[in-house]
Amino acid sequence: MKPDCMILRLGELTLKGRNRRRFEKSVMSQIRHVFAAFPDLRYIPEYGRVYVELGGASFVEASAALQKVFGLTSFSPAYHAPLELEAIQELALQMMKALPKQPATFKVSVRRVNKSFPYDSQKMNVLVGGYVLQACPGLTVDVHHPEVELRVELREERALLYVEVIEGAGGFPLGTNGKALLMLSGGIDSPVAGWLAMRKGLELEAIHFHSYPYTSERAKEKVIELARQLSGYTHSMKLHLVPFTDVQTSIHRVYQDNLLVTLIRRAMYRIAEKVAEREGLDAIVTGESLGQVASQTLSSLNVIGRVVSLPTLQPLIMMDKQEIIRIAEKIGTFPISILPYEDCCSLFLPPSPSTNPNLRVVEKLEHSMDFLPELIEQAVRQTETIQIMFSENKATQHLF
Ligand code: ATP
Ligand code: MG
Repeated sequence: MKPDCMILRLGELTLKGRNRRRFEKSVMSQIRHVFAAFPDLRYIPEYGRVYVELGGASFVEASAALQKVFGLTSFSPAYHAPLELEAIQELALQMMKALPKQPATFKVSVRRVNKSFPYDSQKMNVLVGGYVLQACPGLTVDVHHPEVELRVELREERALLYVEVIEGAGGFPLGTNGKALLMLSGGIDSPVAGWLAMRKGLELEAIHFHSYPYTSERAKEKVIELARQLSGYTHSMKLHLVPFTDVQTSIHRVYQDNLLVTLIRRAMYRIAEKVAEREGLDAIVTGESLGQVASQTLSSLNVIGRVVSLPTLQPLIMMDKQEIIRIAEKIGTFPISILPYEDCCSLFLPPSPSTNPNLRVVEKLEHSMDFLPELIEQAVRQTETIQIMFSENKATQHLF
């Protein structure tokens, strides 16, 4: 069976008035964007949902594209029938038989929009339900907790039937909650943090620190590839590549002890904040998760985080690694993240990085490094920015 229509449900039902209209307008624009390859679709918006007539397009292909639309809670393949009892009954039965797994219980819910249809919705529930029941031995009706619910809408010209409900990405439409800078390493966590931030409606630019030649060209390519994967959820993404070698080696030259990681990470945050402000971004997003490594204990996060005044958002802070990996697999970043190339954070690691750094001591150390402010400015100036465009096969990038 080939669906001829889709029903898309838009999320965040708590939104009202102007916010709701803005929300729906943004979801619609994103839907049209991911459906650019399907020019024959026809959209019919209604309150809280959109009917999309497929015009011959494949539902399977269209539904894969829909998983990239934030603000969409669920969607259903749907089928049209003429406004005639027998046609509706027959289609209902075919749809039930075509389900991937045969349910033990079901119910029919009819909504009669077209009041000139001869049977009201109660009567139709019985007429359609009864027809399906007599053809499906073993199936029973459960009006409270049915395994599947077959919905029938009696519209002005045709009936519309649907039974499957597929979960969408949820969240807020892209860009409706502002813009932020994602600190993107080559690891598993930060791309997931980026995806969760985008799902919450944040438009992202990404920043990556590399310490060439200590980190390889391949490590940089891996990050470009991760940004490409994330840019599939938006239109395109700016990636700022920061040459971090001078900062890192200069700190290491004068200090090699257990606060080294804290010092290096504070320098990263300082650079990230300067780039964020230059680009007009209102927050920094990172992939930190409480307790995961020495630099992610509460006191490390405290000493590192207070170096910037922009809000730092850490979507993974309370999540377990397993939960993070599950999302990484779902959004397609996991296979890229586990490629072996080094991240600059793993360079010059002291034998036992501090899990409980002292802010006063750290500040005093920084004060003694009078070369640091200029090296930080220089890193910002020398940052290279590339625009990552998503395409199914390969990112197309061009240098600014
Ligand atoms: P990830 O898997 O994201 O690398 P992690 O668990 O390895 O995270 P850290 O290496 O301590 O943790 O990094 C914490 C966060 O700092 C990262 O999630 C990322 O947001 C940021 N970060 C680390 N290294 C870099 C880098 N080279 N460039 C940009 N951001 C980085
Ligand atoms: Mg890392």
